Amino acid sequence: MSCIFCRIAAGEIPSTKVHEDELVFAIRDIRPQAPVHLLVIPKAHLGSLSELEDEALAGRLLSVAARLARAEKLDQGWRLIANSGAHAGQEVAHLHLHVLGGRKLGRMLPAAGPG
Ligand code: AMP
Ligand code: ZN
Repeated sequence: MSCIFCRIAAGEIPSTKVHEDELVFAIRDIRPQAPVHLLVIPKAHLGSLSELEDEALAGRLLSVAARLARAEKLDQGWRLIANSGAHAGQEVAHLHLHVLGGRKLGRMLPAAGPG
């Protein structure tokens, strides 16, 4: 098994797990881009959000993200990001939601430019 998030799900690679249920788990990002940077990840392998059809799983991913934002006390705001595919800069080809907060996050996207 080469997918890094499948290996984390299987316990083959250590992680700082902050949530686990029968469908999803959540870990702290290894290279945090904000004081709080969590990843909410389905246990089943899906390449990206583009492959998501299971509405129960979709609901679980969102509700766990919201619950974790409350648990991390991100009451001043937070952001949910799902990079999907090359143009979005997706690095790990296993669906995951980024939960980011704990500082002002700035504009949603940098100003448009080449590349
Ligand atoms: P993306 O660019 O949306 O595919 O994001 C992948 C994220 O996974 C990046 O923010 C990485 O820092 C994070 N990441 C990669 N490997 C690990 C790991 N072993 N544990 C926690 N986060 C990881
Ligand atoms: Zn996987």
